[in-house]
Amino acid sequence: MKILSDFDGVWTDQGGEARFINESFVLEVSRDLGLPVEVARSEFEGFLRAAHDEPDRHGWWPRGFLTAFVDEDELLATGAVCRYLDDGGDARGAGRWRDGIQRAGHGSAHEYGSEKFGPAMRTYLQDHGHGLVEGSLGLCQRLRGAGAELVIVSNSPTSKLRKLFNDAGIEEGDGLRLVGDARKWWIENDEPCAEFASRRVHLDRPYYREILAREQPDLVIGDVASLDLAMPAAMRKEGALDPTMQLVLRQGPSSAAWAVGQTSLDRAERLVDRCVSSVLELEGLVENR
Ligand SMILES: [Mg+2]
Repeated sequence: MKILSDFDGVWTDQGGEARFINESFVLEVSRDLGLPVEVARSEFEGFLRAAHDEPDRHGWWPRGFLTAFVDEDELLATGAVCRYLDDGGDARGAGRWRDGIQRAGHGSAHEYGSEKFGPAMRTYLQDHGHGLVEGSLGLCQRLRGAGAELVIVSNSPTSKLRKLFNDAGIEEGDGLRLVGDARKWWIENDEPCAEFASRRVHLDRPYYREILAREQPDLVIGDVASLDLAMPAAMRKEGALDPTMQLVLRQGPSSAAWAVGQTSLDRAERLVDRCVSSVLELEGLVENR
C-alpha cells in the first residue's frame, strides 16, 4: 500500500504556532497604533470573522489565484486580515487600522503584515522547537513492518523534511521517500475548477498532478482539503487515479466545517472520504485494507 502524505499540519501540529503568530500581530498593532491590547485583539477577531464570511476572497493567494481558503489553515489568518483591510473592509476599527498602518510608514496592510509574520514564526520555532508529533517514529516503524510505502509530498523544502524526520530518528529509504518543493499551491490557469460546498476550488495544479500521476497512491492524507485533496479527488473521478484510493483529512480543532462535512457526500462528489484526528491513525487504515 502506498501512502502519499502532506507534511506540515499532518506530521507537525501548527496550532500553537498559529496562535502565537496571531497574538504577536495583535501586540505589534497595539504598540504601533497605540491601541489597548484588548481592543486590538477584539478588532482583529472581527476582521477575521468578516474574512471567513467571504471565503472566495480570503486565503492563500500565490500567483493571483486562491489556492487555499482562510478557514482551512489558522496560519492564513493574519494574511486574510491584512487583505480584508487593504480591500476596504468596514468592520469596527478597520479605518483606524488602515490609517495607523499608513502613518507607521507602510504602503499597505499586506506589506505591514508580511514584515511581522516571519520574525514571529522564527521566534516561536526558536522557543518551542520544531518537531514531528509524538509517536511518529513508532508509526514509521510499524508502517514499514506492514510493508507500506510512505511518500511525503510537501511544499516545504526537502532539506527541512529530512532534518525533521532525522531529528525524530527516522531515516529515508526502506519505504520512506521525501518529495519537497512540490508546489501543490501552483495554479496555472483559472479553469478547470470544481465546486465543493459552494467553494470554487482550482484544479489546474500541474506540479501536484504530475506527482500524483507518477506515484499512483492508495491513500492521500493532508490537513488542507483544497490544497492537498482536491487534485487527487478530481483525478480519481476522471480515472487518472484508482477508484479505491482513499482521501483522508487530518482534522484539527480549527478544520473547516465544510471540508469535514464532505465525508457525508457520495464518493464521486466528495473531496474527503474520512477524517482522522492524528497521523498516528494511518496505522489502522493500513491494517484495515
Ligand atoms: Mg499541510
